[in-house]
Amino acid sequence: MHNSIQEKICDISNKLIQEGLNHAATGNISVRLDDHFYITPSGTVSENLKPIDIVKCPLALDEEFIQTMSQRPSSEWHFHKRIYEERSDVNAIIHTHSVFASTLSVLRKNIPAFHYMIALFGGKEVRCGAYRLFGSKELSEEVITSLGSLKACLMANHGAIVVSADIDDAYFLAQELEHLSQQYIELLKIGESNLLTDDEMDKVIHKFQGYGPKV
Ligand code: 13P
Ligand code: ZN
Repeated sequence: MHNSIQEKICDISNKLIQEGLNHAATGNISVRLDDHFYITPSGTVSENLKPIDIVKCPLALDEEFIQTMSQRPSSEWHFHKRIYEERSDVNAIIHTHSVFASTLSVLRKNIPAFHYMIALFGGKEVRCGAYRLFGSKELSEEVITSLGSLKACLMANHGAIVVSADIDDAYFLAQELEHLSQQYIELLKIGESNLLTDDEMDKVIHKFQGYGPKV
């Protein structure tokens, strides 16, 4: 039972480490609540994270405000903030340096519709944005473009981002993206594949709307 957003973030952070989706201090997590977001601190080994370490930031966060804060938020606060600004449907963001998604990001390849589960991210591909320096405003703008209205994107020579309405779903998407990235890398090794057509993917996207347990 989680009695705070901060505990939940620590729990997910630990799970990402246990699942091998992040390691040491790589990656970051945030959750939006009203006009704030709660984000992992910068450069802290995830296994050692405590609820008190999670940084509460106003959505209007800027460099000036950071100077007044007692804790330093993730160096990627720019893209967390920009995603919340652009996407009213998003309340949780997970960034990973997971092995297979990061490998694809070095190839700077979009992940095409090689498997119907790509539709889980809301479209017919998962795009990879151009390379930008980690923690930069420029990276955050690139993320906004490659993410668009989807639930995942890759950042060139870096890693992956998944977004969702809630943190548990974002965690599920992070696992799924890594699994699909591994499968796609296997396909690239074989050198041939049969991609789903636009029409086939439209039908999958439609079918996903009524999929899962009835709530
Ligand atoms: P932070 O520890 O500052 O979140 O940085 C980790 C990271 O993955 C940067 O892209
Ligand atoms: Zn990173």
